[in-house]
Amino acid sequence: MKYLSTRGGMEPARFTEILLGGLAPDGGLVVPERYPKIDDATLTRWRALPYAELAFEILRLYADDLPVEQLRRLCRETYTAEVFGSDEITPLAPLEPGLALLKLSNGPTLAFKDVAMQLLGALFEHVLREQKSELNILGATSGDTGSAAEYAMRGRAGIQVFMLSPYGRMSAFQTAQMYSLTDANVFNIAVDGVFDECQDLVKAVSNDLIFKRRHSIGTVNSINWARVAAQIVYYFKGYFAATRRNDERVSFTVPSGNFGNVLAGHIARQMGLPVSRLVVATNENDVLDEFIRTGRYRPRAARETHHTSSPSMDISKASNFERFVFDLAAHDAGRVRELWSALERDGRFDITGSAEAGRFPACGFASGRSTHADRVATIRATHERYGVVVDPHTADGLHVARNWREPGVTMICLETAQPAKFADTIREAIGSEAPRPAGYEGIEALPQRYERMPVDVERLKRYIADRTDALPSSVDCRWRADA
Ligand SMILES: *Cc1c(COP(=O)(O)O)cnc(C)c1O
Repeated sequence: MKYLSTRGGMEPARFTEILLGGLAPDGGLVVPERYPKIDDATLTRWRALPYAELAFEILRLYADDLPVEQLRRLCRETYTAEVFGSDEITPLAPLEPGLALLKLSNGPTLAFKDVAMQLLGALFEHVLREQKSELNILGATSGDTGSAAEYAMRGRAGIQVFMLSPYGRMSAFQTAQMYSLTDANVFNIAVDGVFDECQDLVKAVSNDLIFKRRHSIGTVNSINWARVAAQIVYYFKGYFAATRRNDERVSFTVPSGNFGNVLAGHIARQMGLPVSRLVVATNENDVLDEFIRTGRYRPRAARETHHTSSPSMDISKASNFERFVFDLAAHDAGRVRELWSALERDGRFDITGSAEAGRFPACGFASGRSTHADRVATIRATHERYGVVVDPHTADGLHVARNWREPGVTMICLETAQPAKFADTIREAIGSEAPRPAGYEGIEALPQRYERMPVDVERLKRYIADRTDALPSSVDCRWRADA
């Protein structure tokens, strides 16, 4: 399998060459040259596989320059009941006939990002060891992504994590999850500022290409291709759990932000998984819902971005969306460049009446949005009707899913986080505490380890430089700083 850039300006590369990178050198996103097609016999064979073996079968199609036995071992070591709470890894929980939750949030940080990030940690460690190199991951987090990255990378050889978070602005639970890690390769940097200032610090360091190169700085944000690839697996798993035969179809509803999760669903469908609808659910930050309804893509300014009770979906632009548009443009990189220069010039583009609009219906997308009141009402109703407590992101999906169910087609709603992480909204909805999974009872009381820092780029660089080995300045840097 070869990888290309959505904007056409990258030499074809193999999986292990793109694994550690961010944006392609031309500013595009890295995509596989094609999606392998799965025939009926393969689908039948995969039905019987445990999660780790299914992950191996799917990932080997995309990571075909890794020795198969290594990849199989990495999948087996990653997808265990010990890490994900059950042998099923992503169990399907029926709510009523034709409606089910696919539980993706039983990993160590109780959100779906663990499913891909845990494998990414194993892949990074393996490839860095082969390449005899090291990586210093720098990131900013308002909660979810940062902790998933830390838990995926903790204790791994050749990797250090520098994670910036806004001091005193995360929930007690999220703070405890991150700051209680005591691994020597994890550095929590508590910034006296808001999340945007943390992100600006990361950008400032990444834009200093000489520093970035000398200190082998990288990221693990949502545009990483391997994360998307690892997410394809649970769409297959969910389908197998909800059906008995390959002539049955299902639909998926996906609480969406950066379009990474639902993109994996789109790819599964393109590979031949019998999916009827892919329903994109957004909160008040509805760029994606707007695109799907109108054909207009209009990223929002920071001041137009709402802080909501489903914070992991509070995005202004959907960073994985370009990969989908590349498919809509029938892999015409020139067309993608044209749309993205329109975006830069006008702050929007519109595919109405174009060839892309003609191809869109066949992709099976539908969409909707929720408000805070919708989510609270859905959490309450789900609790009353089924005795199940869902988090606000999952509630967003359940709310939107109602409009897109079809007779004879099970609607699978992806559960993206555990309610315990969003205690305030749960209390508001059901008047009692969210259930807390075993093992997390007293985490707020654990000792915490972090470095408090003002918003000061030079100070941050010094902190990183003191804790990393500098490479000679001649080392080549192929990848651009990530957006
Ligand atoms: C990241 C996240 C999302 C959004 O996923 P995307 O891949 O960015 O679309 C939804 N829910 C939760 C809980 C998340 O952490």
